[in-house]
Parts: sequence; C-alpha cells; structure tokens
Amino acid sequence: MNNNVIYLDNQSTTPIDPRVLKEMNPFLTNFYGNPASSNHLYGWQANEAITIAREKVSKLINTIPDNIIFTSGATESINLALKGLYKNVLKVGDHIITTNIEHKAVIDVLDYLSQIGIEITYLPVNNKGLINLDDIVKSIKNKTKICTIIHGNNEIGTIQNIKKIGELCKKNNILFHVDAAQTLGKQIIDVNEMNIDLLSVSGHKLYAPKGVGALFIDKMNNEIKLTPLIHGGGQEYGLRCGTLSVHNIVGFGEACSIALENVIDDQAKILKLRNKLYDELKKIFPDIIINGSLSQRLDGNLNITIPNYNAQEIISEMTNLAFSTGSACMSENPEPSHVLTAIGLNEKEINETIRIGIGRLNTDNDINRTINYFKELKNGKN
Ligand SMILES: *Cc1c(COP(=O)(O)O)cnc(C)c1O
Repeated sequence: MNNNVIYLDNQSTTPIDPRVLKEMNPFLTNFYGNPASSNHLYGWQANEAITIAREKVSKLINTIPDNIIFTSGATESINLALKGLYKNVLKVGDHIITTNIEHKAVIDVLDYLSQIGIEITYLPVNNKGLINLDDIVKSIKNKTKICTIIHGNNEIGTIQNIKKIGELCKKNNILFHVDAAQTLGKQIIDVNEMNIDLLSVSGHKLYAPKGVGALFIDKMNNEIKLTPLIHGGGQEYGLRCGTLSVHNIVGFGEACSIALENVIDDQAKILKLRNKLYDELKKIFPDIIINGSLSQRLDGNLNITIPNYNAQEIISEMTNLAFSTGSACMSENPEPSHVLTAIGLNEKEINETIRIGIGRLNTDNDINRTINYFKELKNGKN
C-alpha cells in the first residue's frame, strides 16, 4: 500500500477510524459467537455487543434502539425501505416524489418500481443543487404515498432542508424516506424533529467498515408495513434475516458513538481544511467554479470545475492524490453525471470537474501538500 498517496475521496468511502478498529478486534478473534445462540457465553457476549451497538446508532439520530434494523449498507437499506413498502403500502398506480439528484441506489430502485406501475415525479434542483419546497407542494397528488429525498449529495455535497420537507410530508400524510448516507454523523440528524419515517445510512461513509449499514423505521407509525427482502431465521425483527455481521455492527456502533461526541469539532476542523484548500485553489486557478451551494453543503466537499483542465488528465497526472472526477459511483459509467447535468453544467464543464472529499483523518499537512501538487500542475502547463 502506498501511504504517500493523500486520500481525498471521503465521499466515496472513508478510512476506518483506529478507535473503531480497536472495538471490532475482539469480535474478529475471541468473541466469535453467534448473537442468536442463547445457550452459552459466546452467544450472550455477541448478543450484548449487538444491543450496545444498536443503542449507539439509535442515539446518534435520537430514536429508540428497536427502530434500528442492521443491513449490509445504505443500498440495501434503501431497497428495504422502498421495495419493502410495495404491496402493503405502495400499490400499482400510486405516486412517489423524489429529486433528480439522487444516488444510483435510489434511482435504480425507483426505476424498478416505475416498471411495475408506480408513478415517479423527479423534482428539479436550482443551479445551486437545491430543490424548491413549492415544487413538492405542487407535485403532491391523492395517490402520493412516499417522498424520498437525498440529504447530503454525494457529488456536489448540497444539503436539502430535510426538516421543512418532513413537515410538508407529515401535513400531507406522505411517508418520508431520507437517504442520509453522506450526512450521518456529519450533520445533526434528529428523526423526530425532522419528521423522518425511514432513514438509510451506511457504515463506510462514517469511518466504519464496508458491508454494514442500517435502516431506521419509525415503528410507532402504524402506516409503515415493510415486507422483508431477505427471509430466514427471524433476525432483525424478521425484517432482515441472516446471521448478523457482529464485528461490522460493533464497528458501526462505535463510529456512531464517536460521531455523536465529535460532530461539531469534526465539522469545524474539516471546514477549515476545505476552506484553506479552496482559497488556495482559487489563487492558483482564478477561473475555478465551485459547484453546488457553498452554505448548504457537506463540510468536506469540494466539487470544482477548472476550465481548460480535463479531469481525467489531472487525475492521471496527480498520482500522489486520491480524488475523483465528478462522481466516483459513475466512474464506470461513461454517461455524464446526472447531478452536474441537473445543476446546468454542459458536457465540457462536466469533463473539467473534479470532486475532492476531505475527512476527519486528513491533516493540515495533507492539505499543504495537495496545494503544492496543484501548483506543480499549473506550472507544468505553463
Ligand atoms: C454511498 C451512498 C449510498 C450507498 O451506500 P452503500 O453503503 O455503499 O451501499 C447511497 N446513497 C448515498 C448518498 C451515498 O453516498
């Protein structure tokens, strides 16, 4: 592994926090019991660890532990939330409201639902990447059952006004699902205050391992009746069967607990690093453009267009930096980013756009070195 490469792709995934790894270790070695084994110490230890992790996750979003279902990640949570509502709540001919800047995990589930006869409205965003609340009101129909909205965008980092949207949904008796993969532990999320019915989150965007996530379900809301995607041994209240990934869940719990204590400090630290990098980049490339709202934004996100610099070329030249073109998830997909298109960029601009994602483990030294690499890039071109 090349430790010389500075990791600046924290919207794609985050490194594991050493404190998280430390908590996980016993569950990869001595404490290998199955939490469903109720006859011996090994099982009890594992079960106790799951209970504690569930408490930690629930606390971060201000709910009770029973409202947390562990999954393999946000993609699975989104599938369970939206496909799980189909038949019981959502019927052929019903209507869902969403945005045109969702993550692929939501887009593809909605495509699937639209093929079986659910109507979908994709709300536009303005050139800052924000939806207009009046557009939600205008698009509500008698048959509208669900509104699903991305909280923090994975490409341009914009943060939607979830609390206001939650109020609208509640007033109109619409179930509200939020994709909070990018914001869990980075922004304060209170599912009660924000009137959220279902919330999808992921471990690996919050310094926990890949392969774990959760779905929050407001179980007090009798209208939410989910059909499981995975049937089996009754785990996770029967909603997500299969032996639990104890070490991953323990890691995720610890990551949530660290985030709860550090969210404000993390925000300040990361914002300082991002502002420094952005200010220096503006000096090096005076015609740089930042995409998405500057105020309603994930602290670590810099999605920037550098006119006359091809993003692919920059990336292949800057081998000491790890960042991506417009969107990492789309890197295998030759189509231009739907998010950058939605905020009005043309194909040339999209090809000149990079995404830098600063995280908790980045240092001031990382940013200084990054600035120097960009200076070299500029000088190399002159
Ligand atoms: C990463 C991400 C997902 C998918 O999460 P996984 O845990 O990788 O399945 C969904 N939505 C957003 C906004 C994301 O950033």
